[in-house]
Amino acid sequence: MNSKAIRKAFLDFFISKQHTIVDSAPMVVKNDPTLMFTNAGMNQFKDIFLGNQPAKSVRVADTQKCLRVSGKHNDLEEVGHDTYHHTMFEMLGNWSFDDYFKEDAINWAWEFLHEKMGIAADRMYATVFEGSPDDKLELDEEAKAMWLKHLPKEQVLHGNKKDNFWEMGDTGPCGPCSEIHVDLRDDDERAKKPGAELVNQDHPLVIEIWNLVFIQFNRKADGRLEELPAKHVDTGMGFERLCMVLQGKKSNYDTDVFQTVIAKLARLCGKKYGESEKADIAMRVIADHLRAIAFAIADGQLPSNNKAGYVIRRILRRAVRYGYTFLNFREAFIYQLVETLKENMGDAFPELSSQQVLIEKVIKEEEESFLRTLETGIRLLDEEMSQAKKTGTMEVSGKNAFELYDTFGFPLDLTELILRENGLTVNRAEFDSEMEKQKSRSRNAAAQETSDWVELKKIDEVEFLGYTTLEADIEIARYRKV
Ligand code: ATP
Ligand code: MG
Ligand code: MG
Ligand code: MG
Repeated sequence: MNSKAIRKAFLDFFISKQHTIVDSAPMVVKNDPTLMFTNAGMNQFKDIFLGNQPAKSVRVADTQKCLRVSGKHNDLEEVGHDTYHHTMFEMLGNWSFDDYFKEDAINWAWEFLHEKMGIAADRMYATVFEGSPDDKLELDEEAKAMWLKHLPKEQVLHGNKKDNFWEMGDTGPCGPCSEIHVDLRDDDERAKKPGAELVNQDHPLVIEIWNLVFIQFNRKADGRLEELPAKHVDTGMGFERLCMVLQGKKSNYDTDVFQTVIAKLARLCGKKYGESEKADIAMRVIADHLRAIAFAIADGQLPSNNKAGYVIRRILRRAVRYGYTFLNFREAFIYQLVETLKENMGDAFPELSSQQVLIEKVIKEEEESFLRTLETGIRLLDEEMSQAKKTGTMEVSGKNAFELYDTFGFPLDLTELILRENGLTVNRAEFDSEMEKQKSRSRNAAAQETSDWVELKKIDEVEFLGYTTLEADIEIARYRKV
């Protein structure tokens, strides 16, 4: 089954259970001070859960564009290094708003994965919430009893609050959950160790695919749980992980969701995927980050120096640097992958097609602008690293990291990533204090600026001095005539 057929099978299944299919909400959240990006399928239904808004339909299903790079759910550092966490991913989901509850949710999940999609029962594990004294909650006996109708008791496990109590953020709708994990190891590996011991242990082949959340509470700002007026079901299944399972692959990146983009990338850089660990990581990171960036721009969020825009810029610059260092790109390349991405996902997400020109243009400009300073920045950082190694401190000063940020456009997390690759760290306190000084300088400067972007046509007639970061959504490229 290719990924398009899998997506359709999921939605069709829930249509057959009287669900209404709704569109994905935008990935970029505009009007919620608690959330920058959609991080789960349920976000768009928050007000229904809280009882602030009636549900148009009591049963809905969809595929939701999610981004997990900030706040409570941040998977950025895992991406590319593991094979099943992405920045942007699709979350398939079905919801009940004060309609069906645990029994149907569990039975349908089982019916879809096992009966319809054919995942073998002996490879499946279900977890249920063990309870938490802090919140005065007990073991979810109900969910456990339902799973025991489908699975032997060795495959029904208790999980702690971290894994089995789902919360959108520090506040908001939440509740106990029951998760489905799949063991994809080869038989000889499975004979050596039961999969039950590897559930929730970050094993790349024993992975969580579906989370069934029973939304019953609202977490208040003071940390207390308040019962919601009604009970709801909120489920989320990683689409790319489901594709890996159903296509018999051992990595999300080996599915057709990513393979076309990786193949194009491999052609562009003249390397083969699967030949060198470092280049492979770089290819995975780029194939992943491309999606986060393209979907953000399609939603109207351009890279900038502030909030959500800076998150997108950071992701893009990470991708550029992976390409530069490990795939030897010296010119803009990411924008050339947009076409392939569109061919792959444009049916399900038409915004990729309608915004293609804008997406390519913005990515290309961003890449070119960063590539102008990347080489010098990397050279400087190399020198700093040798110095730090020589003196044995293994730490680069915050002042240097700040210079990289301010003059060469290196986001701090990028500098930290490069340092980590070399076993070094940065002095964060020093960096923060430099940033503070900078902010007060720019507050004065901002008052005098009239325009927020200085565009110079003939770049070769000027010497690029760096970026000046201002407080608001403003970045000024500083140039000097030569
Ligand atoms: P994990 O434990 O693997 O980090 P999670 O428990 O944080 O996953 P949930 O919040 O329960 O994930 O989200 C529901 C489903 O979405 C997961 O079961 C998984 O299939 C998928 N998922 C979660 N995070 C990611 C990600 N970063 N990339 C791809 N799929 C993801
Ligand atoms: Mg997670
Ligand atoms: Mg989990
Ligand atoms: Mg989970």
